[in-house]
Amino acid sequence: HSWFADVPTAPKDPILGITEAYLANTRPDKINLGVGAYRDDDSKPVVLNVVREAESRIAGANFMEYLPIGGLKAFNDLSVKLAFGEDAECIKEGRVAAVQSLSGTGSCRLMAEFMARYMPGAKIWIPKPTWSNHHNIWKDAGVKEAIYKYYKPETRGLDQEGLLEDLSTAQPGDVVLLHACAHNPTGVDPTVEQWQEISTLMKEKKLFPFFDMAYQGFASGDCTRDAQAIRTFLKDGHQLGCSQSYAKNMGLYGQRTGCFSLITASAQETTSVESQMKAIARPMYSNPPLHGALLVKEILGDAALKQQWYEEVKGMADRIITMRALLRKNLEALGSPLPWKHITEQIGMFCFSGISPEQVDRLAQEHAIFMTRNGRISMAGVTTKNVDRLAEALHQVTT
Ligand code: PMP
Repeated sequence: HSWFADVPTAPKDPILGITEAYLANTRPDKINLGVGAYRDDDSKPVVLNVVREAESRIAGANFMEYLPIGGLKAFNDLSVKLAFGEDAECIKEGRVAAVQSLSGTGSCRLMAEFMARYMPGAKIWIPKPTWSNHHNIWKDAGVKEAIYKYYKPETRGLDQEGLLEDLSTAQPGDVVLLHACAHNPTGVDPTVEQWQEISTLMKEKKLFPFFDMAYQGFASGDCTRDAQAIRTFLKDGHQLGCSQSYAKNMGLYGQRTGCFSLITASAQETTSVESQMKAIARPMYSNPPLHGALLVKEILGDAALKQQWYEEVKGMADRIITMRALLRKNLEALGSPLPWKHITEQIGMFCFSGISPEQVDRLAQEHAIFMTRNGRISMAGVTTKNVDRLAEALHQVTT
């Protein structure tokens, strides 16, 4: 008898299933639109030139030492400036508690654990739909979740009315998870005015904003513009939390490089809060990985490299924006009677195409084009070489 005979097999991650189906397919022109990682116009993964340069600069440095529990201090300082602004009041006043995290996932997990300990009874409000791991993260930390409306299938845009209505029923002290930009999976972000309405309502209702910022710079190509929602909330005097990830915008996916921060009311509070963040991190993983943090510090800490990074992240964002325009143009040129305007109105890595699960299945079976059954297209998988075929296939299965 085995100790593990009663362990059931966990359900498969839906994304992994897509990759498997894609790999098993033998058509040479197959297309993988499931991957949540950037690809160039030859469908190849990318290492940024600026990252290569930073690597050459840190080569041979005191590489293998442990970082402190909270990570590399210079990395945290540069990260919060990127998120909140070089001249942010909260930074100047010492009101930002921050620790280096295991990328965006790790930041969210630290926030969930922090809520469980220090925001007792608070629910986490999660948009519908969202990155599916959000549900797992807060569930595993034992925090109750509530769902707010976000996406309106009829317009393939934001359900601002539903969102405000749902959040107005939250209890004071609840936490609202907001995607800072490039909402995953819908690609639908609130406008500047809509963010202002959300901020005003949340202030009035005493709700705590937690921004998951997995795509800063990757959405519009401009790191400041992509942080605009956070800046609006700061201007309104919110204390807030932030999860930053360098997976997409610096292409550091596997390096697990991120930052978790909470804005406090005073420098004294920062000391306590930061000490508790570390107390949570210590038994989970002792200290975060070194390599990615050194790279980011090198890049953000050097004016010339930072400028180069801005240009490279804009290059990635622009390629995706160009593919959106091409895909829409092709569908319209084919005479599709359906509206495809949302392809170019949505932003970031993903396009919520609006096609049905059955149409997704047909794309896989008849055209060897693979995506999640919710109709989410990873725009990173679209290239000048496959966009024509993708448009034709989409046209065929939707008419
Ligand atoms: N949040 C959102 C909204 C995401 O899309 C992702 C990446 N898929 C993450 C967090 C976490 O990414 P990572 O842990 O690789 O930084």
